[in-house]
Parts: sequence; C-alpha cells; structure tokens
Amino acid sequence: MPRRARARIRTTAIAAGVTAVAVLAGTASAAGGAAGQRPGAAGGERTHEVEYFSGPGGHGRHVRVSAEPPERIARAQQPLAAAERAGDGDVTPIVENGSTADKLDVVVVGDGYTAAEQADFHADARAKWQQVSAVAPYDAYRGLFNVWAVDAVSNDSGVSGDPTQSVVKDTALGSYFWCDGLERLLCVDTDKVESYAAKAPAADLVIVVSNAAKYGGAGYNDVSSGPGYDGIATVSSDHPDSAQVAVHETGHSLGKLADEYVYDEYGTYPGPEPTDANISTLSASAMAAQRVKWYRWLGQQSPDGGVVGAYEGGGYYPRGLNRPTENSIMRTLGREFNLPGREAMVAGFYRHASVLASDVPTDRPLTRGQRVSVRVPASASVRWYVDGREVRRARDKQTVTPASLGVRPGGHGQRITVRATDGTAAVRDPELRKLLTDSRSWRVRG
Ligand SMILES: [Zn+2]
Repeated sequence: MPRRARARIRTTAIAAGVTAVAVLAGTASAAGGAAGQRPGAAGGERTHEVEYFSGPGGHGRHVRVSAEPPERIARAQQPLAAAERAGDGDVTPIVENGSTADKLDVVVVGDGYTAAEQADFHADARAKWQQVSAVAPYDAYRGLFNVWAVDAVSNDSGVSGDPTQSVVKDTALGSYFWCDGLERLLCVDTDKVESYAAKAPAADLVIVVSNAAKYGGAGYNDVSSGPGYDGIATVSSDHPDSAQVAVHETGHSLGKLADEYVYDEYGTYPGPEPTDANISTLSASAMAAQRVKWYRWLGQQSPDGGVVGAYEGGGYYPRGLNRPTENSIMRTLGREFNLPGREAMVAGFYRHASVLASDVPTDRPLTRGQRVSVRVPASASVRWYVDGREVRRARDKQTVTPASLGVRPGGHGQRITVRATDGTAAVRDPELRKLLTDSRSWRVRG
C-alpha cells in the first residue's frame, strides 16, 4: 500500500525531547515506596510513574515519564487516509464467555499495525492472551474472561525505537521503546489508549500490544480511566517473554499486590504497616500471633518454590519490610505467584467477574420444560433451589429444567434459584471468599 510522504525529523528535536523527560524523571524516584502513586504533572505536562524491566528475568524499576510521546515522535503522526480510517476502532471478540456484567473484560489495543495488518494484530492479541492466561491462577479461570481486540490503525508498521533508538514511526498510539532513554521501556500515549479502549463493550484490564520483536513493556499503574479499567500494561508483540510483564502488572491492577523487589539505596522502611496483602513490617511469628496479613499461608509450600514465611525485603525496601516467599513473580518476571499472591489474584478476578454465567435472562419467566444452563469454573459447586428449598439430586448439574427440579404443571410463580460457589483452596480469607459465590433466580410461568 502506498504511503504518504512524511515530515523528516530533525535530530535536534531528539536531544530536546530526551532532556525534557530526564528532568521529569528526577522528581519521581524520591516518591517511590509501598504506597500507590498518583499521576502527576510537572511543568504543566501530564506524567505517569511507570514500571519497566530490563530483561526477562529482571527486577522492575520505576521512572516518571510523560503521558505523551516526545515531540520527535508526536510530530511524525499524520491523519489516516479515508480508506484506512474505515476500519479504525473496529472491535473483534477474541474470547467471549458471557455478558460484560458477568465477566472480566480484557481489552487489547494494537499499535504499529497498518490497515492491512489488522489480521496480524488479532493473531498477536490471541497469542498474547494465551501466554498471559497460561500462568496460574489465570489457567484455571479462563472462563471468567472476555477478550476484545480493538483495531487502532497506524500509518506505519512497527513502532518507534525499534530496532534502534533513532527509528521514528507514525503509529496510532505513539508507542515507543527507549522511553526516558531506557531501551526496554515501552511507553505509550495514555489518552489515545483510553480513546480506543473505550470502544470495547467494557474494559476492566487494558493491554497494549506494540508490533515489535524487541523485548520490552511497561506498567502504568497510576492510571484510573473513564472506561473503568485501572492501569495499562504495554508489551511487544513478538517477544515471547514480554507477556510476563503484563502478568506482573496485573498483579498490581487486579491483585492490588505490591512489588516484592527492593532498591538497595532505600535502606530501612520508615512507615506504618502497609495495606498491601503481600508486604508487612511483621515477622512470621507476629503475623501468626496477631492473625493478620498472610498468616493463613505460613509454612505452606508455595508454587513459586519454598515455604511461605516472612522474607526480609519487599516494597522496594531491603530492610523493615518482609515478603511472603523468596522469589515470586512480584519480585522477578517469569516466576509464579506465591500463595498470598494467588489468593489476591483470584479475589481480583471475582471483583470483576461472577462465578456464575448463564445466557437465560432472569427478567422473563421460564416454561416448565425450558432448559436452564449455567457455566462455572471447574472448582465451583452448583446448588439448585425451588422456592428456597434445595433440590439435592440436581447438585452440580449445569443444565436443568423446572420440570426436572420437580416443578409440576400449574406451578405458576414458583421461583428457581441457582447458587454457585467456588470452593478453590487458593482463597482462604473469609472476607475474600464472599466474592466467590453468586446466585440467579427465575420465575416459572407454569
Ligand atoms: Zn511491579
């Protein structure tokens, strides 16, 4: 497809852009700590604190960056031609498991894909979700998610900073490597991400897939959006390990987990007990005695290796804060969630999704012979009730009819209720277990 001529980028603009971002970054590091970060503005410019990883097995780092690409990249962006605009913003379901009200809706937006490459984007979005959802506890809960691909049509194929820092591309979301001078930090225009994410039927979690083979990504954990998602993760499309960045970032956005890695220069933590579930000022024996934090998991074998205890260092502080295990994914990419992390993730899933899904509308009465089907995770139990009395022979049936539950002809007005409860051993906290149950009721027309 022929491309329009585009403005050349002056090298002087590159130097100016890097300097501006570096000044902003200087204000960021002092604000680090266990508490969450808010988006800030410095010199009138919107900024975000982002997390990045220098390699697939690396610990994270944080830096404050502009919410928009630098001038040298911004000025390369040209309007789409009419033909290319036609498909811009199209939404394709990649995974559909139920209504947006009942499911956790993941929105994948592509950057650096031309109009002709949108099928490639859909394949990349599908592959990225496969990689993310292969990690426990996602693997046992795939049915709780919908995944929507939103087409963002770019004039250029590929993204800025790939393969080298000087490469400038005209892309829909302005994503670029070498953000703040860091090769693996893949930044994006967060307003543009929101404008595309808002086109999906719902957005609980947003992943930007940038068309590139270079390893990289970022977590924008201070984003609170209009469409309702918290945080944005960016990942490169063709590097298989980049999905681990997104998994780690969902530890923050869905699991509300803290980082378990440390910066040596932070020294000893000076603050009060953090609210995060996976870092604590307390020793294991103090947790057990006070019955707080992850005391229910102490001594248990953790999927990331070793036994749950209180390991020194976490929440960026090498001393004064403890973490549950030696080396979970909240500390090092490519690892598993530890037991407290897994519990937090499952609870996070259920803050957005219901254990129970059914396509039978509850606002219309059932006929006696009408089939009522529900879908639940494998670890969930199902109970059926007629006017509040359980029909024990229907336990764990996922399809019934009012007749099979004993509703007789003329049983007009009787109420059928189904209740599902996830009995997973991954969640022990009774407060969180309340999220793991749900019910639906229907009237019978007789
Ligand atoms: Zn992190």
